[in-house]
Amino acid sequence: MKVVAIPQLSDNYAYLVVDEPTKKAGIVDCAEAAPVLDAVAREGVTLTAILPTHHHYDHVGGNEDLLKAKPGLIVYGVDERIPGITDRVEDGSIVRVGNLSARVLFIPAHTSGHIAYYFAGEKAVFTGDTLFAGGCGRLFEGDAAMMIKSLSKLMALPDDTQVYFGHEYTEKNLRFALSLEPNNGALRKKYDWVLEQSKRGQPTTPTSIGSEKETNPFFRWQSPELRAALKKSYPNVPMDDVNVFAKTRALKDAF
Ligand SMILES: [Zn+2]
Repeated sequence: MKVVAIPQLSDNYAYLVVDEPTKKAGIVDCAEAAPVLDAVAREGVTLTAILPTHHHYDHVGGNEDLLKAKPGLIVYGVDERIPGITDRVEDGSIVRVGNLSARVLFIPAHTSGHIAYYFAGEKAVFTGDTLFAGGCGRLFEGDAAMMIKSLSKLMALPDDTQVYFGHEYTEKNLRFALSLEPNNGALRKKYDWVLEQSKRGQPTTPTSIGSEKETNPFFRWQSPELRAALKKSYPNVPMDDVNVFAKTRALKDAF
């Protein structure tokens, strides 16, 4: 499998997923069709499917234009909010791109219909706006308990799974993470790398499940340092998983 990250709008990523032997490809999260069609031509592949993670405009805004340019595409999705949807999926559904197959993981909370695509054989997962490098999505259609459950599904994947996320928010995410865990060495090291990438104009995608376990505060609600930092500033917050997560998310919303 080859994955081509295609910058969209101001900080979104679409991902062209290519099955190299068959030259068939799928596109994860298309906000703008033109750069995606350019990449399809440049890679010399046949686009067969659109794989949206959720219905927000910056993840599906290009679907209709792609369908006009390439009639007959399969459009996966959980609900009718996905423009052009042809194939409804749910947790555990299998979707195909050439000879590649991905399992749908239902991971609601950012939206009530948010999914990830997990290519187990390729050790890759596309997480949209649920899991970012160093962050997670805002809780628009779910609560902290729901997001913990969704992120726990992703945490259960092998550590070396490559994580392709929906937005280039990594620098700010890790700045926030450091405000809670200034002594986390892995986090500091990753932040330095992210600054270097940014200086070179390079993306920070993909990350990995293992790296997120070490650095992402929304995978680290049990971290003693994070809990101590919260307790010091907000002594009234109960130190259970849901309250710790909810407070961390609320702080990030205001960061
Ligand atoms: Zn979104």
